[in-house]
Amino acid sequence: MTFRELNLKDDILSAIEELGYVQPMPVQEKTIPFMLEQTADLVALAQTGTGKTAAFGLPVLHMIDASQKKVQALVLAPTRELCIQISNDLKGYSKNMRGMRVVPVYGGEDIRTQLKQLDTPPQIIVATPGRLIDLIERGKIELGAINFLVLDEADEMLNMGFKEDIETILQRTPDTRRTMLFSATMPKEIAMIAKRYMKNYEEITIGTKNSGSENVAHIYYVSQARQRYLVLKRIVDLNPDIYGIVFCRTRQETKEVADKLMHDGYNADALHGDLSQAQRDTVMQKFRIRNIQLLVATDVAARGLDVSDLTHVINYNLPDDVEIYTHRSGRTGRANKKGISVSIIHSKERFKIKDIERMLKKDFEQQQIPNGLEVCKKQLFHMIDRMENVEVNEEQIDPYMAQIMKQLEYLSKEEILKRFVSLEFNRFLDYYKDSEDLNYHEKNERGSRDRGERGDRNDRGERGAKSGKRIRLKINVGEREGINAKRFLGIINDVTNDKSISIGAIEVTNKFTFFDVFADQADKVVAAFATEPDYVVAEAKGSKAADSGKSKPEYRARRSGGNDRSEGRDYREGGSRPRRDDSRQGGEKPWRNRSRK
Ligand code: AMP
Repeated sequence: MTFRELNLKDDILSAIEELGYVQPMPVQEKTIPFMLEQTADLVALAQTGTGKTAAFGLPVLHMIDASQKKVQALVLAPTRELCIQISNDLKGYSKNMRGMRVVPVYGGEDIRTQLKQLDTPPQIIVATPGRLIDLIERGKIELGAINFLVLDEADEMLNMGFKEDIETILQRTPDTRRTMLFSATMPKEIAMIAKRYMKNYEEITIGTKNSGSENVAHIYYVSQARQRYLVLKRIVDLNPDIYGIVFCRTRQETKEVADKLMHDGYNADALHGDLSQAQRDTVMQKFRIRNIQLLVATDVAARGLDVSDLTHVINYNLPDDVEIYTHRSGRTGRANKKGISVSIIHSKERFKIKDIERMLKKDFEQQQIPNGLEVCKKQLFHMIDRMENVEVNEEQIDPYMAQIMKQLEYLSKEEILKRFVSLEFNRFLDYYKDSEDLNYHEKNERGSRDRGERGDRNDRGERGAKSGKRIRLKINVGEREGINAKRFLGIINDVTNDKSISIGAIEVTNKFTFFDVFADQADKVVAAFATEPDYVVAEAKGSKAADSGKSKPEYRARRSGGNDRSEGRDYREGGSRPRRDDSRQGGEKPWRNRSRK
């Protein structure tokens, strides 16, 4: 189909031909004949970039009378940029129509210029809702002759809190108007507006609605709202190769989060409606070519961005609408790649997750917000990977090698590695040394934290140790082998590799160490040591475990802090031991590094 076949006026056809438009885009093919041939209203589900400005603009221009100096069409849009853009497009389409005027009015600019342009009423006004109402109230704009009303990016206007303004405007336009509503998503509120203010409207959808991709894993973290930013940083730190969009609700929040990330040394930038088109283009281009790793964006600003290989989408806030969530998460997991959609929520938002799960028919996994130790470990091995894979430029380095070798001659390979790792890594360790547990804990869990334990790390142990009855075991190492409580816990840690195992009282004698475990965990401990030829663990017959241990110090198998009783100190003081699933050897050493720093 060509534009000529759509029976548009010649002066419109000539203008769009000059613009290089030959064939109508799908949304135009659907809306233009509909608008020209029928009388009903229209609801169109279409994203930015699908050609929707011409889809409503061309038929509207075709149907209004350029010789009449009154406002016949009104286009409402959420942002100043969009207003300007739409207005410029319409000016382009109508440049050959004598007497046709399009005036944009929007907030954030001196109203006097706009007042002046309205001295003679234009045929078309493109407006943001707030400024339009202002001008109506000043008696500068009269909507009584409106034949066409377009609500562009209606969902975004609602997101930005324009609902009441839109309703006020709708009520001030004649009932005889034709209304066209464009929206990228169709939340309930939009459907309600359509139902209330639009007559037997036709609904069309352009492109496929975003359906949840099979390749996307949906995970969420529960924290306190005020810790959102810290959680975001942990997520980013845990994923050093992240390439993703952080979705925020408002421009203000977008700016704040991006500023903080940049300030904290992350490769991030913001994309929102307050930027000029040129600025937005620059940011988008930088992101496309991966000069920027994290783009912090509002939904509307990110719409024009076509990037297909995101590793993560982060919902800094959950959107109110499931469709927006779908749209966001659909930006990852494309082209057969795996993607992750992460949401940071607070405890009262769990119901939203349930809603989204239901609508998407997908399970969301709650994950524990990683602690500082986990983040540091991830970063460490990321750095080691980079070192392993770095391209060595022999030719350039060669002239200096002899001198370097000489200078470092006295250091062992291990020492060199430790120093090299410390160069970059100390920064992380420093940052995370006092890091707090960011996971939200229900009240009953908080109780246990208040007793000096650290939240989620412990609650698994608490649950695992349900019976309360303890038995005493003994292991064939003691003071003679240099064992103390801390070392002993390190051994338990390494051998069992089981976070849930909870150790009670510990008694170290010369040859043996006696320790209490919950009865229902004893078998696990004995079984784990059965494959370790150097150790023999058995029940300490004749030696009774301390009674359910309420007043006894309790130790977790996975922790072996600098202070035996204080879990919280381990990674601050470098006493933490890697778990055995660290498949790479030597994972423990860099941690010691820190204490020597
Ligand atoms: P929009 O969704 O209205 O922002 O349009 C997206 C882009 O497509 C704009 O740059 C338009 O100028 C362009 N465009 C719209 N319709 C056509 C068409 N039929 N042929 C070529 N380009 C078009």
